[in-house]
Amino acid sequence: MSTLKFAVLAGDYIGPEVMTEALRVLEHVARQENLTLSYTKADVGGAGIDNHGKALPDSTLKLCEQSDAILFGSVGGPKWENLPPKEQPERAALLPLRKHFTLFANIRPGLLYRELTDASPLKTDRIPEGIDIVCIRELTGGLYFGQPKQTTTLPDGDVQAVDTMVYRKSEIERITATAITAARARKKRLCSIDKANVLETSVLWRKTVTEFVAKHAADIELSHMYVDNAAMQLARNPNQFDVFVTENMFGDILSDEMAVICGSLGMLSSASLGAGQNSLGLPFGLYEPAGGTAPDIAGKGVANPCAQILSVALMLRFSFGLEKTAVRIEAAVKKAVTGGTRTSDIAFGGKAVGTKAMADAVIRELG
Ligand code: NAD
Repeated sequence: MSTLKFAVLAGDYIGPEVMTEALRVLEHVARQENLTLSYTKADVGGAGIDNHGKALPDSTLKLCEQSDAILFGSVGGPKWENLPPKEQPERAALLPLRKHFTLFANIRPGLLYRELTDASPLKTDRIPEGIDIVCIRELTGGLYFGQPKQTTTLPDGDVQAVDTMVYRKSEIERITATAITAARARKKRLCSIDKANVLETSVLWRKTVTEFVAKHAADIELSHMYVDNAAMQLARNPNQFDVFVTENMFGDILSDEMAVICGSLGMLSSASLGAGQNSLGLPFGLYEPAGGTAPDIAGKGVANPCAQILSVALMLRFSFGLEKTAVRIEAAVKKAVTGGTRTSDIAFGGKAVGTKAMADAVIRELG
């Protein structure tokens, strides 16, 4: 019997609402498959600020260190918007978590079922079969972490701000390895996205990806694309991609574009994998919905729990090696949604159910 030891950081607004339902689904699966769950809940984000004075309380970080994975909800919202930028829930909780655990590989499936193509702002004839692509974003390097990062007043009185875009070859190699694994599990096609016509870091990026794939993954069909073109191609014909890999800021922007064309944020999950291994010898990871805390719908019981449920599936796949269980959950979500049970974000004005009823439908599909 396997024991799944993980930290549950639900966060703020809809975070706890969708987390409750995702845990209910997981508990159902655990009963069916004789898995032992050992999870502990802790405050993060606004809840951390309110109850402990900071967005990532020491006790929460300690709990994460003692766990094999983190199941994360989402953090932030109007209540804490007036805090200084450095104390804001997202910046003061998520970025330190990424850094502390070296969560360098962000894996975001861009999935839109054929039955939900109306949810996409793209013309449906461009995506007759829906969308099925994967974005792999480097998460701990590049502009967001590079030093120096500062604003200074110059001798002439002008003010100058600097961010630094920096990448090491080893950082590019390890994210390429993650992308190869993802591509191997799919159609074996990998597109690396950069700006090698302008940026020095991108020149190194392209050279490193090319050499690494040639050396370690001759079975993978590798292509390269400039990021400006990639932004257009995503909107023109997203399914021309299978897996794409890119650096931190490009990935931030492209993965959000991908989320938009996939319809609702309520359906998209993500995994952020660490450089370290957990006690099972598998990647330590943080698993969360792609969306935020949705304050506009919080407290109404209408948020879509599917992204959080699908994040559970990713956690089982990557941090606990339970591929079959992950596939079962993903199939159950798909069956429930395509069978007609939908929250209002994907109901297109038709009959919509609430958060709990959506999870009930997934549980029913699990048998
Ligand atoms: P958001 O993702 O919270 O919401 C954008 C839109 O998508 C809203 O209309 C919302 O109702 C809808 N939506 C999101 N998730 C949904 C779900 N599960 N079901 C149904 N509809 C859903 O983005 P925002 O409004 O820009 O941000 C709100 C707060 O969330 C901000 O404080 C922001 O900083 C924070 N945020 C946190 C994270 C994170 O914790 N990783 C990510 C993004 C935003």
